[in-house]
Amino acid sequence: MKEIAIGAGIAAVLFLAIIGVNITPLLFVALLVGTFYYFTQSQAKVNFQEVGSKKTSSNPLSFDNIGGQDTAIKELQEALNFIIRAEEIGRMGIRPLKGVLLVGPPGTGKTLLARAAASYTSSAFIAASGSEFIEMYAGVGAKRIRRLFQEAKKKAVNEKKSTAIIFIDELEVLGGKRGSHTGHLEYDQTLNQLLVEMDGISQDHEHRILVIGATNRADLLDSALVRPGRFDRQVQVGLPDKKGRAKILEIHLKNKQVKDHSIIEEIARTTFGFSGAHLESVTNEAAILAMRENQKKIDMKHFNEAIDKVIMGEKLDRQISKEEISRVSIHESGHAIISETLEPGSLSSLTIIPRGKALGYLRKSPKDDQYLYTVEQLEKQIMISLAGAVAEEIKYGSKSTGAKNDFEQAWKAAREIVECGLSPLGVINTEDTPQELIYKQCKEIVARLEEKTRQLLTDEQEALLKLADYLIAEETIDRETFVQMMAS
Ligand code: ATP
Repeated sequence: MKEIAIGAGIAAVLFLAIIGVNITPLLFVALLVGTFYYFTQSQAKVNFQEVGSKKTSSNPLSFDNIGGQDTAIKELQEALNFIIRAEEIGRMGIRPLKGVLLVGPPGTGKTLLARAAASYTSSAFIAASGSEFIEMYAGVGAKRIRRLFQEAKKKAVNEKKSTAIIFIDELEVLGGKRGSHTGHLEYDQTLNQLLVEMDGISQDHEHRILVIGATNRADLLDSALVRPGRFDRQVQVGLPDKKGRAKILEIHLKNKQVKDHSIIEEIARTTFGFSGAHLESVTNEAAILAMRENQKKIDMKHFNEAIDKVIMGEKLDRQISKEEISRVSIHESGHAIISETLEPGSLSSLTIIPRGKALGYLRKSPKDDQYLYTVEQLEKQIMISLAGAVAEEIKYGSKSTGAKNDFEQAWKAAREIVECGLSPLGVINTEDTPQELIYKQCKEIVARLEEKTRQLLTDEQEALLKLADYLIAEETIDRETFVQMMAS
């Protein structure tokens, strides 16, 4: 059709030239239209090919290589059985499954799950990211969506597979609520095209397609996208628990030399709140540290440092003045003494070596995963947070800006006490309670606990100063040395 139109156009222009009409303006317009057409076509083409090649991996990946996501894997497998048992499902008149949505924080393994889904169902796999569909030119995103679906079918044909899985990461970028973007038209057209393509998926097609979307903001998605018949299965991919973290560590340590595998349990305990990506980074950093020290095997010391690095960032070579070192030492000692007083055995190590944004760091001994807190536990947290600034005040008579982050944490915990109905205000509704009242209650909690911390630290002043002096001289103290020092 396109070719016939072009041919007819050329013939008409030639005819006009022969009968003596000036065709220069026509040629000029044709050139402009041609350039624009070529440009939009190449935009759709070039970028999409990048999309496909960047993330598509030919390495098959099985669900066994994914740790800490047993429930997500089970739910996903249930959905994937729709593809595996397609004929039976067709016979029963069950509507085919078109989309599965993976919802969870970054780095928890959503991409891995999609890749494993492709291996599990023996499907062709193609991946793209939502942000790669959005351009400033209206229509380009929609074209890329069409190409993505065409590519998926082509890939299935080439690989002689009857199914294809399209994985779209950051789905909220292209599937956000319609009308919520400033450049409405392009976003809306792109999303509409995705809806059209998904509606076109049919069980009878020779090459069936399943779309797997991933997002960490399911609340931002357009309701048309998540309605039954489109992404109608949601699988939660959360942060791993302790057992899951141990499994992920084992997966990533398989190709590394570890001195003693029994320490994996302890590392898993220490890394509450870490995602799979964090844990992979810990194993990698630990191996790098062992290599730097010319060690053949990774031991606990390397893991501890790797965890600090992943939490706080790289050690800094910052030049710090003597006065600042002294202030940081007393500040960190304050945290440590209160932590040990309120939770004996909690100090694992203490350092004043700057790392990332922190000038010092108290590392606590690993505890089991905790999801619920009592008021006593929250109050202890507040006191430990406030202890740095209070210790500075005891020694220098003044606080410093170094406590900003501590105060934020203390305030957050105080707010938690109030909002969870654990304060003298009792059970409250945060929306209906005047902010002034909540503020006053938080202030009262923080002030009371600050005073309590001051009393405790004043009683322990001798230990506080001794520990600070040690840090000034040695920069770091481990648990063993700390216990010996406090006993002497
Ligand atoms: P994002 O939302 O940022 O795209 P994601 O949830 O898709 O992240 P992945 O890309 O799947 O996360 O994971 C990144 C890397 O982290 C993986 O390549 C893997 O090394 C590691 N990883 C994450 N989760 C797991 C897991 N559950 N088991 C094993 N490794 C994991």
